[in-house]
Amino acid sequence: MLVFNQFGSKINYENGKCANCNRYNTSPAWCKTCDPQKTALGWTSGNKNIDDCIKELQLNATNYEDVIEWIPFNRLNNIQKVGEEFLALWLDGVRLIQYIKEPTQSRVPSSGIRLKILHESKNLSEILCKFKELIQSKDNSPKVYGLTQDTSTDEYILVFDFKRYEYCGKCANCNRYNTDFAWCQTCDPQKIAQGWTSGIKDVDECIKEFQLKTARYEDVIEWIPFNRLNNLQKIGEGGFGSVFSATWLDGKRIVSGKSTENVRSRTPSCKVALKTLPGSQKIF
Ligand SMILES: [Zn+2]
Ligand SMILES: [Zn+2]
Repeated sequence: MLVFNQFGSKINYENGKCANCNRYNTSPAWCKTCDPQKTALGWTSGNKNIDDCIKELQLNATNYEDVIEWIPFNRLNNIQKVGEEFLALWLDGVRLIQYIKEPTQSRVPSSGIRLKILHESKNLSEILCKFKELIQSKDNSPKVYGLTQDTSTDEYILVFDFKRYEYCGKCANCNRYNTDFAWCQTCDPQKIAQGWTSGIKDVDECIKEFQLKTARYEDVIEWIPFNRLNNLQKIGEGGFGSVFSATWLDGKRIVSGKSTENVRSRTPSCKVALKTLPGSQKIF
């Protein structure tokens, strides 16, 4: 049911009630009267012009998930350069409305996000112009989450989302369209990087670094426990080491369907080749 308050705003009972003013929210878990002010309090970038710019955007926010924020640099982790951009994990994470009993403000902790250095950084007003322009652009460009500043170089950096495609289906974790078939780059790389270990810290870190920048399910690099390999047969010997064939019980990752209904699966018991790496201990 829709009714209108004295400001003429739509009120939808399904948006839940504001805990502050006890009136119905104006969008899911968001009260336009109370929430923007709360969001604009309790933080500073250390620069008045930046604070003013972001607070102005926050005071006009009509949706919890669209709030632009100042993201302290130490809330970003695992920053990796990929092409002209950087990828990182945002520890607090992207805003997400969760529907438990009623809509609730929440976050997706350790979200994968993209970073882009704003090279206009020499002139602050140019940076803020560019920043606002990117937020307000209507050309389907990826959603902007906010701004951060590299504390070692003082450069201002845009924090933003990946491109998402309706035809790739929705991510069950963050409820946004996927960034590739059966893959959400905000949520899935972190999940893949958890729950396994090779037993050697350096090896884990190396593989996790690859996992955290994975853009497609089929491209995931993984640690394969030796007992998941069967029928080992030596098929060659070279200057670099020995080559074996084997059966990988779990198998390659594949996406079947390639539509909004796509599902992740494996090709169990597939044949793979193994090569000993120079310098490693003799394991056979
Ligand atoms: Zn309120
Ligand atoms: Zn997701």
